[in-house]
Amino acid sequence: MGARAGRVVILGGGLTGLSTAYHLRSGYLLLEREERLGGHARTEEKQGFRFDQTGHWLHLRDPYMRQLADRLLPRLLRPVDRRARVFSHHVLTRYPFQANLHGLPPAVAAECLLGLIATRTAPAPAEAPRDFEQYCLRHFGAGISKHFMIPYNSKLYGVHPREITAEWCQRFVPIPSLEDAVRGAVGERPPEMGYNVSFLYPRRGGIETLTRALVARLRGEVRLRTEPTSIDLRRREVVVGGERIPYSAVVSTIALPDLIGLCDNVPGDVRDAARQLRCTSLRYLNVALKRPPAADFHWIYVPEEKHPFYRVGIYSNAASSMAPAGGGSVYVELAERGPPPPRARLLQQVARGLREAGVIERPDDILFADLREIRYAYVIFDHHYYAATHLLREWLEERDLYPRGRYGYWTYNSMEDCILAGRDVARLLGRAAAGPSA
Ligand SMILES: Cc1cc2nc3c(=O)[nH]c(=O)nc-3n(C[C@H](O)[C@H](O)[C@H](O)COP(=O)(O)OP(=O)(O)OC[C@H]3O[C@@H](n4cnc5c(N)ncnc54)[C@H](O)[C@@H]3O)c2cc1C
Repeated sequence: MGARAGRVVILGGGLTGLSTAYHLRSGYLLLEREERLGGHARTEEKQGFRFDQTGHWLHLRDPYMRQLADRLLPRLLRPVDRRARVFSHHVLTRYPFQANLHGLPPAVAAECLLGLIATRTAPAPAEAPRDFEQYCLRHFGAGISKHFMIPYNSKLYGVHPREITAEWCQRFVPIPSLEDAVRGAVGERPPEMGYNVSFLYPRRGGIETLTRALVARLRGEVRLRTEPTSIDLRRREVVVGGERIPYSAVVSTIALPDLIGLCDNVPGDVRDAARQLRCTSLRYLNVALKRPPAADFHWIYVPEEKHPFYRVGIYSNAASSMAPAGGGSVYVELAERGPPPPRARLLQQVARGLREAGVIERPDDILFADLREIRYAYVIFDHHYYAATHLLREWLEERDLYPRGRYGYWTYNSMEDCILAGRDVARLLGRAAAGPSA
């Protein structure tokens, strides 16, 4: 990038924006709509109970990230071995479902295992799977697809896996060997698998402790409760009300369709591509318990349609500081995307499910349950996704607008990915430090 007038303007102060600012060190202006920085990496507190925006566990794979985390939070991150379970057919089984059929009703376990054997012993199809449903059927067989993969992913994404491409999932969906699956079906424990076998979590303060550590090290200008009204691409100015802010580059971590909506003179094909982007919203409950949770898991996956949630997690099982002594703090991710059912009915259904899954002993263990909503939660990798995002990213970068982060880049990623994306874009803009600064 050649030298240009103006600063780097960073839109959004979630982890991607904060990491960009941290790695740029100076010469930037960060605009954040909310009154507090952190985006999804914020922790809410009420009556001594703490809640992240559902489970925010740190899975660090990258050596630079480990080094940075040590510097940002020395001795504050506790390694935790994952205790993840699947709750279906009235029982809790080990995660991942496909490798741990033991404990399910024998007929279900047999159906799943026979399906897996059938697909693994069939001749390999010549063509790649056309969608995520076909991917599941090929890799896991009919039974596992029916009892877990299809219903769980339908609840998670709010669309049928047939509408989702096969490509997105490779990193996140563990494929056991047939031998491991057989061992897991007869009760021998196969090795833990998946990208999240263990995680790190702050001993105190929830995931926002990480955010605060980054914020404390920022040296440039940050404006809260500020959002752009438009972006003048020709004059290279971000407009905020009556103010025009010249930029050398914009790093945008706000949702990609929103960014396109801010730009002027957008050609028709770019607008059409933005209209094709799909994302699910998510409603979840922050649940405070008067008693310690009856279950010891960190989170469970819940595929069956009869339960109103698809995932439940217990923060206080990972860090006792997340709840007052003798209590528990829990998140419940709800499957319903339409109008919410009446609150009393919803809470009754949730309490019933939590009791069945062993989280509570009786409904009055619940001290309070607060409903929250995330407008952009899971990007849908449908059949338009790759062409549309490619076109949009290219069009924006040609104009020195760099879309980054989970919703900026429009992808499925983790906090680690976002912090690395911030570092990389800062490097790209030519101002990053060689290594992490204290
Ligand atoms: C339900 C759920 C569970 C997750 N669990 C995990 C997990 O266990 N582990 C993990 O590593 N990752 C997890 N993630 C992913 C993680 O939250 C994200 O990858 C990361 O926090 C995204 O950071 P970001 O900065 O890209 O986006 P965001 O956090 O969305 O930040 C964007 C920021 O932009 C601001 N903004 C939006 N519009 C405007 C505007 N017009 N003007 C100014 N500011 C604006 C927002 O207020 C926000 O602060 C989870 C995500 C979700 C949704």
